[in-house]
Amino acid sequence: MNILITGSAGFVGSHLVERFLQDGHSVIGVDNYISGQRQNTALFLTHPRFQFLEADVSQGIPYTGETLDWVLHFASPASPPHYQEFPVETLMVGAQGTQHGLELALKHSAKFFLASTSEVYGDPHVHPQPESYWGHVNPNGLRSCYDEAKRYAEAITMAYHRAKGVDTRIIRIFNTYGPRMRADDGRVITNFVHQALRGEPLTIYGDGQQTRSFQYVDDLIEGIMRLMGVTYHEPVNLGNPTEFTMLELAAVIGKVMEHSIELEYKPLPSDDPKQRQPDIGLATNILDWKPQVSLQEGLQNLVSSIDYSLASS
Ligand code: NAD
Ligand code: UDP
Repeated sequence: MNILITGSAGFVGSHLVERFLQDGHSVIGVDNYISGQRQNTALFLTHPRFQFLEADVSQGIPYTGETLDWVLHFASPASPPHYQEFPVETLMVGAQGTQHGLELALKHSAKFFLASTSEVYGDPHVHPQPESYWGHVNPNGLRSCYDEAKRYAEAITMAYHRAKGVDTRIIRIFNTYGPRMRADDGRVITNFVHQALRGEPLTIYGDGQQTRSFQYVDDLIEGIMRLMGVTYHEPVNLGNPTEFTMLELAAVIGKVMEHSIELEYKPLPSDDPKQRQPDIGLATNILDWKPQVSLQEGLQNLVSSIDYSLASS
């Protein structure tokens, strides 16, 4: 198949490129590097079935090929420090970027796949979160540029499906980690791992009792492959349901790194969700999918992938 991936130089996008190339497909990656890394493109540039287009997909997707089977829209800053640094760009890539992807899919009779997020549930009042929960989002707070962009992206994807017949998929990704995350992306796992590698205290925001459920990237990629193989248009949660407080996460990092960990407490950012855990009953039913990688195992893989001489520079 010919598969176009927006956000190909990002963390998740680069794992998708790798998997599709391994499976024998041709991949067109598109990225403007607002939060991605050139080294993630360099990994595939010499591959005969990989082509890269440097472009801001909010302005348009400059694909001139004749055929296309899938458009996967993964472009968007995803870490809170990144999307809060670029709130307008984040809204645009969720809005215009999604529409450009849908139009491209429509033009080529290709299928369209949207990367949405657990952030559509906001600071949830229903726990764990099933897809049927409509969420509790502050529409104009610091996180709104991301949350509302993704809510709009889901809405326009369903509109193109219902009104124009585009064959669409939507996933809601819960906190995912693994090799190729940017060392400075500011998300909790990258912060903790790099702080621990540098022998610095781990920064706990608030009292550390807030929870998240962490999914290893290989499990996410497998879930995406399976959803591409079935016909299902409503949103599907993909995440690991094992829930940790940030204090528990710090303890697991200490265990994986085999040294004692000091903590430094910092203020809790505004609108930080207090708890998050996916209900994955739907994915299990329709995809026969469940995460396979434990937090400890995934963290071990992540730590061993980091070149510490680069990480500390
Ligand atoms: P990332 O920041 O590593 O990757 C996103 C990529 O999109 C980057 O390479 C960035 O440069 C590119 N991009 C952003 N705006 C663009 C634009 N206008 N034009 C072209 N390229 C653009 O983030 P990630 O963790 O890989 O996330 C990938 C997708 O998955 C995002 O849509 C994100 O919202 C979603 N998601 C990720 C997580 C997670 O935990 N990693 C959780 C929920 C949802
Ligand atoms: N967090 C933390 N220390 C850090 C970075 C983040 O305690 O150095 C907390 C953050 O306040 C949030 C959780 O960890 O409660 C997850 O944050 P992340 O930015 O990874 O993703 P989010 O799920 O909030 O989008």
